[in-house]
Amino acid sequence: GAVIGILGGGQLGRMLSVAASRLGYLTHIYEPGAAPASDVAHAVTTAEYDDADALRAFAEAVDVITYEFENVPAKSLDLLESIRPIRPSRRALAVSQDRLTEKEFLSGLGLKTAPFANVETEADLPSALEKIGAPSILKTRRMGYDGKGQIRFADPAQRDWTGAPSVLEGFVDFSGEISVIVARGLDGAVAAYDPGMNLHEGGILRTTTVPSGLPKTLVTDAIFLAAKIVGALDYVGVMGVELFVTQAGLVVNEIAPRVHNSGHWTQAGCAVDQFEQHIRAIAGLPLGDGQRYADVVMENLIGDDMDRLPQLLKSANCQIHLYGKAETRAGRKMGHVNRITG
Ligand code: ATP
Ligand code: MG
Ligand code: MG
Repeated sequence: GAVIGILGGGQLGRMLSVAASRLGYLTHIYEPGAAPASDVAHAVTTAEYDDADALRAFAEAVDVITYEFENVPAKSLDLLESIRPIRPSRRALAVSQDRLTEKEFLSGLGLKTAPFANVETEADLPSALEKIGAPSILKTRRMGYDGKGQIRFADPAQRDWTGAPSVLEGFVDFSGEISVIVARGLDGAVAAYDPGMNLHEGGILRTTTVPSGLPKTLVTDAIFLAAKIVGALDYVGVMGVELFVTQAGLVVNEIAPRVHNSGHWTQAGCAVDQFEQHIRAIAGLPLGDGQRYADVVMENLIGDDMDRLPQLLKSANCQIHLYGKAETRAGRKMGHVNRITG
């Protein structure tokens, strides 16, 4: 049997490996942290990915390499790619590792994004604020997730700094946030899941609900837009595309070149969930049936939400996923619940 290599030992890597195992593959997880898999943060420093011997041994032990987070350093990828194929490709990673290149790529495709300006250094902030105005959000270009590394500006005279190269984004007045989980196979076939409606709290995804309640035309727009993105990147694998719903139509917030938290509902709603779909794509199998057969509300279990676990375990309509993290911390994703609502 083939062996699939996964970069990153968090919950996404863990769920990918479960899906791979069901399809008869072995997986090898590369996680530079000292902590065991599934008890590691996603923020991995460059130094930890600098161990050329470990990377070489990992690549040689697998047939294809994928990843659960997008911040793998370019130099490590160069080494890995010289030994085995990386799917999704380097280009998808390069585009999405940096919010500036990501926004330039998306607007280059003719898609709407929030108005943005590069803020390379603190000195660029006044002119960026003059151009974009307020309210706006300053986001570090690299490494941010769960709203980390972001500062909101209520007033163009406000002066705060993230401490790293950033982009300033105009605040989008949205009526809702949706995401499309889209897959593209090695043969170029594209399949998208029904877009889910996302609710964030403090920059962290709280719930995803399907059906989204969006009009059919917007659902179609969202899926076409996602298909355009994966096509343009000659993408192989699953991608999460986060969108704002506005009066003027859909605005792309960001893309994630991997399985996505807002796609966890597919575990309870579809015959083939996003994890299996990703494994199928990177292994060169045909894409599976991503049709939605149930209404689902996915809720993240964050920090103290774990106190509700005894109750949730007794609920009839709940599929519970726990990530096995040793320590509960505020703001930390500990698991999720897929509640089947229809
Ligand atoms: P993720 O964990 O999804 O990768 P992130 O740290 O990359 O998060 P974003 O997705 O950029 O952060 O922002 C987090 C949330 O903040 C968004 O889902 C949205 O609710 C809000 N937000 C971000 N950018 C904007 C914007 N330009 N206008 C309005 N709201 C925004
Ligand atoms: Mg993000
Ligand atoms: Mg986001």
